[in-house]
Amino acid sequence: MNPAAAQPALPLDRLVVTPAADAERIELDVLFVGAGPAGLAGAIELARLVKRDNETGGGLGDVAIGVLEKAEALGEHSLSGAVVNPNALRELFPELADKDFPFRGPVTKEAVYLMTAGGQVRIPTPPTMHNRGHFIASLCELVRWLGVKAEELGVNVFTGFPAAQLLARGDRVMGVRTQAAGLDRDGKPGAGYAAPNDLIARVTALSEGTRGLLSQAFFEWQRVAADNPQIYALGVKEIWETKQPLDRVIHTMGWPLGDAFGGSFLYPLEPHLVALGLVVGLDYRDADTDVHVLLQRLKLHPLVHGLLAGGEMVEWGAKTIPEGGYYSVPRRRSGDGVVVLGDAAGLVDVPSLKGIHYAMQSGMFAARAIFAALKADDTTAARLAEYDRLVDESFIMRDLYHTRNMRLAFKDGFYAGGFKAALMTLTGGRFPGGRIAVEADAAVERMAAPGASPTFTPDGKLTFSKVDAVFKAGNATRDTIPSHLIVGKHVSPELARRRLRGGERCVAGERAQLRGLQSHRRAGPPLDAARRGQRPQVQADVSGACRARAPYYGAPSQHRCPLSPPGRLTQTFGHTTSLYQTTT
Ligand SMILES: Cc1cc2nc3c(=O)[nH]c(=O)nc-3n(C[C@H](O)[C@H](O)[C@H](O)COP(=O)(O)OP(=O)(O)OC[C@H]3O[C@@H](n4cnc5c(N)ncnc54)[C@H](O)[C@@H]3O)c2cc1C
Repeated sequence: MNPAAAQPALPLDRLVVTPAADAERIELDVLFVGAGPAGLAGAIELARLVKRDNETGGGLGDVAIGVLEKAEALGEHSLSGAVVNPNALRELFPELADKDFPFRGPVTKEAVYLMTAGGQVRIPTPPTMHNRGHFIASLCELVRWLGVKAEELGVNVFTGFPAAQLLARGDRVMGVRTQAAGLDRDGKPGAGYAAPNDLIARVTALSEGTRGLLSQAFFEWQRVAADNPQIYALGVKEIWETKQPLDRVIHTMGWPLGDAFGGSFLYPLEPHLVALGLVVGLDYRDADTDVHVLLQRLKLHPLVHGLLAGGEMVEWGAKTIPEGGYYSVPRRRSGDGVVVLGDAAGLVDVPSLKGIHYAMQSGMFAARAIFAALKADDTTAARLAEYDRLVDESFIMRDLYHTRNMRLAFKDGFYAGGFKAALMTLTGGRFPGGRIAVEADAAVERMAAPGASPTFTPDGKLTFSKVDAVFKAGNATRDTIPSHLIVGKHVSPELARRRLRGGERCVAGERAQLRGLQSHRRAGPPLDAARRGQRPQVQADVSGACRARAPYYGAPSQHRCPLSPPGRLTQTFGHTTSLYQTTT
């Protein structure tokens, strides 16, 4: 089974459009699209540079800086571990001490375990996984804190506005158009309709995070490639209030993963508040791999069970991580009137599971390049290429180069990869030389072995169904958003049935079963051609994880779910999906 074969091309004609003369428009100097660590650090750094310039008689004058965020409130779509390397925060706020940052505490102890089904062996912590000097944090809290700092500096933060289209004239990016809000089931204006807005800026900084819609459109439109395609992992995470305390950062490898790449983490936000997550590379070969279910199984392991027993799961979330590393970073992350930051540019080091400080640092580099461009009154590609130079010559690309093949070595399986990664660690990344070539996740052939995966029945106390889990994500999407899962006419009956069976592929699939498609699952008749192209009734409030699954369904250039219309599943049609609160 090859998911890539079922993917339509990225609809660039609808993602990159010219600004309409009569559209409502907001004019800014600089617009950051996405209020994660990258966008907010960039906005803060730029606002400070402008302030300093004006205070010292530089004469730049007022610079209108905006940050557009699709979540209804800052942090609600932020999900991470998170163990944070504080370097970028220290550089951004030299006047503050570590105790002033919104950290939950320092990492004081850590342990790495190789798991088997019934036990575990503690192994020496690999150098890339050392976290001494790092801090445990909630990314939601960090993002909210950065948002306050940005607003104090006069940055305009617009929440609840997904950017849906890139506005361009010729090769120049002019800004973005937001998604219309209040569309009904058929995509027509309904109650509470609000027309899209055009936000026009001299520089647009795309800081949308992993699999950013407009960032991917930009790279494809401008034909900016990387040596390898980007590959992704899916991280599923739960926050637990526990009866037993946890005093250390724990990482595990091995069981319950078979040959797939990945591992789990347990981070104590407080001694009795634990972040538990499982991250699995989406280049797995077993078509029945289901990260949510694997996480549920992990909780039954004595090491984890002993910690969680009697406790309560208080929050759940899922998000992808760009895992390709050095060879998947696009050759340029800038263009005429545009720069791309953080996860949207693939700036993540997977062996250490770190992206936050790289995202923030890239935002600061972008701010410095944009500031110089504004001073020179020249925001062309040639000027903004300074951002690429800053990133390329920094610790960001040095770190990524150092671990360049470590994740890629696992494309042939866990044990072969583990052996090669150990050699790479010993030789400082020099063995094996050259680049390990990988294919996009969706191009990896999947094997389905009927009956191989035992069914899993959650107990509702320690283990949960996906629908219950999504409820814990705080998903509040209204039921009447436009249908956004459609069985593409080109999708084979086998693949369509598999997706609609859904439990293992897409949270939405479960509700699809509940609402009208049960017969297809139970009786198992092939979906006939007439049925394909129809809209399954999928309730919006369970569909939040589609974006998390998107890489599985297709390569960056062909990344729609085979159940979806052309276009991404990311836009929220005027209402939010997840509402991560304090802990994720
Ligand atoms: C399970 C998991 C564990 C992790 N653990 C760690 C860890 O321990 N330490 C670490 O350093 N890193 C960790 N990471 C990685 C880290 O979270 C990311 O590298 C980091 O958040 C990237 O920051 P960013 O600003 O680039 O993107 P994000 O944090 O993803 O922020 C992007 C923002 O843009 C918004 N957005 C997206 N598209 C649009 C749009 N079209 N319009 C408007 N808004 C939009 C999103 O809602 C979001 O708020 C982890 C990631 C995961 C998934």
